[in-house]
Amino acid sequence: MRIRVDPDKCEGHARCIALAADLFDVDDYGLSSVKVDVVPSHLEHAARLAVANCPEYAIEIVEE
Ligand code: SF4
Repeated sequence: MRIRVDPDKCEGHARCIALAADLFDVDDYGLSSVKVDVVPSHLEHAARLAVANCPEYAIEIVEE
C-alpha cells in the first residue's frame, strides 16, 4: 500500500500525524506529507484510520 496527501486539500489539522506519526511529517506551515514510500504492513490500519479521519479528504490510498 502507498498513500499520498493532496497538498491542495490539506489544511493542516494534523489529525493524520496524531493517528500515524510514523507515516506523516508536518512542514513549517503545518501541512502534512507522507514520509514513507511504501506503508509497512503493520501500519496499514493506522494509514486507513488517517484517511478516514482527515476532515479535508486529502489523504488517498494508492493500492498496487
Ligand atoms: S488530517 Fe488531512 S488536512 Fe489535516 S494535516 Fe493531515 S492530511 Fe492535512
